[in-house]
Amino acid sequence: MASSIRQFKWNRFILEAVLDRILRYALFCLFLAQAISSASASAVRLAGIDYLVEDGRPLELQQAVSLHLSGKFRPETRSIPDFGINSNPVWLHLSIDNPSGSAANEYLVAGMTWLDHFDVYVLHSGKLLNRVRTGDETENAPGLTPALGYAIPIAFPPGESEIYLRLQCEDPMVLPIRLLSNEEIEKGRIRYGYFYGFFYGYLAALCIYNLLLFAGLRERSHLYYSLALLSAIFCNVSYTGHGAAWVWPGFPSFQRYVILATMVAYSVTGLLFASRFLSLSEHAPRIRKMVGWFSVSVISAMAFFILEGNQAGAALLAFSTIAVFTVFMVLLGILTARKGMAAGRYFLAATCFGLVGAAVTDFAVWGKIRFTALTFHAFEIGLVIEATLLALALAYRMRQYQEANLQAEKMARQDPLTGLSNRRAFMELASLFRSSAGRGGRSLMLIMMDIDHFKGINDRYGHRAGDEVLIAVGSMLKRQSRTSDIVARWGGEEFILLLTETDLEHARSYAEKLRKAVAELRVNAGSQIISLTASFGLAKCSTDLTLEDMIHLADAELYRAKSEGRNRVCSNG
Ligand code: GH3
Ligand code: MG
Ligand code: MG
Repeated sequence: MASSIRQFKWNRFILEAVLDRILRYALFCLFLAQAISSASASAVRLAGIDYLVEDGRPLELQQAVSLHLSGKFRPETRSIPDFGINSNPVWLHLSIDNPSGSAANEYLVAGMTWLDHFDVYVLHSGKLLNRVRTGDETENAPGLTPALGYAIPIAFPPGESEIYLRLQCEDPMVLPIRLLSNEEIEKGRIRYGYFYGFFYGYLAALCIYNLLLFAGLRERSHLYYSLALLSAIFCNVSYTGHGAAWVWPGFPSFQRYVILATMVAYSVTGLLFASRFLSLSEHAPRIRKMVGWFSVSVISAMAFFILEGNQAGAALLAFSTIAVFTVFMVLLGILTARKGMAAGRYFLAATCFGLVGAAVTDFAVWGKIRFTALTFHAFEIGLVIEATLLALALAYRMRQYQEANLQAEKMARQDPLTGLSNRRAFMELASLFRSSAGRGGRSLMLIMMDIDHFKGINDRYGHRAGDEVLIAVGSMLKRQSRTSDIVARWGGEEFILLLTETDLEHARSYAEKLRKAVAELRVNAGSQIISLTASFGLAKCSTDLTLEDMIHLADAELYRAKSEGRNRVCSNG
């Protein structure tokens, strides 16, 4: 009962803490979304977008222009052009209108930073004004702005201009296209700086903390959790362009595979964490085996694609692995929650947040729901909440272990019937007392007590009644002893007491007091009332005696008390 109340309080505590965090985070994100969407309007207008998907052979600008003039381009009506994974290269034609009488300096922002080749041609009155080649495959890619995409500065002359964009990418080609002023770009940079500072800082802190926990506790779920977080951070750093812009600008071939490889790493470490956290090898060994095979297969397949230089294969593998992983995690959560494991419920809640976040981002990118800063970053928000819930779940499970250990420790040292210490606990405690008493020259007394004719009580009233008598004697001894004394059940109907700082005189009168208390006990056994007596043997401790010697002496005195007629105290002093 008490433990279920404690459990309830603890659950409530976790729930309140989580809700509080989620609310704070949601408010923070709303504020951020508000701040980002309140950017001022641009000086030039994007009048329309047309597109053409290449049919296999690469087109030059001149060819694209003539195809556009002959009406081969189709109007792009989606708010965010999206051409899926492994698409043929795409040409976009943007019609720009600069109504002011002077040149306007604006940034063309395209991306997500997930474009392998991104060629920009600016035309005015049929003349090529500007040409920029960039993309993830370009070393020190011009215009790469982490989190925003590729931001290309363009000076638009008054009147109408055209931009032709050629995009080639074997990963998903999702292309939000915007025209932003310098000021807006700067604002975006600062806000994203704060956003990602918080995001990476939070995840990194959780990651390091769990690594430290692993170092201290040697519990592998902390290690897997840290590795999963590390993969998530790495993956995010790669796909937002932070990595290519700051860490590995000169290594496009690294950028080509790092996102895909970290997606697989995240899935595998996430599954390993789940297996360990949910104790799958114990509860579902076949599923644990499946996880093992799945992990080995996807890692080998990814290594194969990378070595083969097959980017399209690697992209397909990474996205299908993430999809399988996400669904699998939720199913695992449901399975273990249904089995009644509390850990499963926390796990399920955590993975659902992750899943909902990823789904919201996907829908926003596909144009199924409104694309705002909040919906676009739902994935990252979901990840933060998921990581937080999992950290709480780990803490919760650590507490469960701790309580189980304490309980086991207690059980190993306690007599379950009377709640007194058992023989083992008595020997441990008594040896400590004896050695310190020996050093300090203080006096110790040992009392052995045995209930008289207990077998007769069992025979007459039944074994259950006998137990009641033992319980009653046990609680009487607890009541009568000082906190500095050690009281234990020695076995059967024998009890043992070690009295500290007590001389023979006092010990004898104390034993006499106990003898009387036993004789006055009345134990209910159904309709009958049991009365009983006990015999006592007393031994004085001297420094040349071991604990075993003392017990032996007290036992001999007890034997004497029995033979002299029972219900009495005998001592060797
Ligand atoms: P004496 O006065 O000489 O001590 O006689 P006795 O009957 O008390 O001693 P004996 O050692 O012959 O019997 C002890 C009995 O205690 C035998 C055993 O069945 C009983 N006993 C031991 N442990 C328990 C227990 O946990 N519960 C109950 N009900 N009986 C127990
Ligand atoms: Mg006995
Ligand atoms: Mg007895």
